Amino acid sequence: MLLTCTTKGCMKQSEAKLKAGERPRLNETDLTDVEVICAECGSPIVNVSIYTKRTLLAQGQIMRAEQKKSFQVECPTCATKRDVKMAKDGKSVLCVKCNTTLRLSESFIRAVALRQEQEIKAAALEEEMEPAPKVTKVAKVKKVVDEQ
Ligand SMILES: [Zn+2]
Ligand SMILES: [Zn+2]
Repeated sequence: MLLTCTTKGCMKQSEAKLKAGERPRLNETDLTDVEVICAECGSPIVNVSIYTKRTLLAQGQIMRAEQKKSFQVECPTCATKRDVKMAKDGKSVLCVKCNTTLRLSESFIRAVALRQEQEIKAAALEEEMEPAPKVTKVAKVKKVVDEQ
């Protein structure tokens, strides 16, 4: 089911998920404390009723523990496991410590890129100031008119 996000700057409808965290499985009794996470921006949605949570549970819209730790890779230069980051070209992955380009599968690189994108998005939403989004919207509309 689709839920509308309550976070300023998002407010989108998405297949929101119950945040199961470390729990191997969710029970009805867990539902009161469990947060509901917007699939668009990753922020918690507030004031979700217990009935809605039950529906999410029944439909399997559940988010498991974050997999951040899996992004550690053996760096040949450091000779140990390191966290990784995307290179500026967006096509390769570097060791965060020594900036060595790591040889990794395409799917792994995509996963790192996706995570980085989500982190940037989340940070941007946190820092967001009031007038900024409106200005860009107006500018875009104006550009379309000019092109016609
Ligand atoms: Zn959202
Ligand atoms: Zn390294």
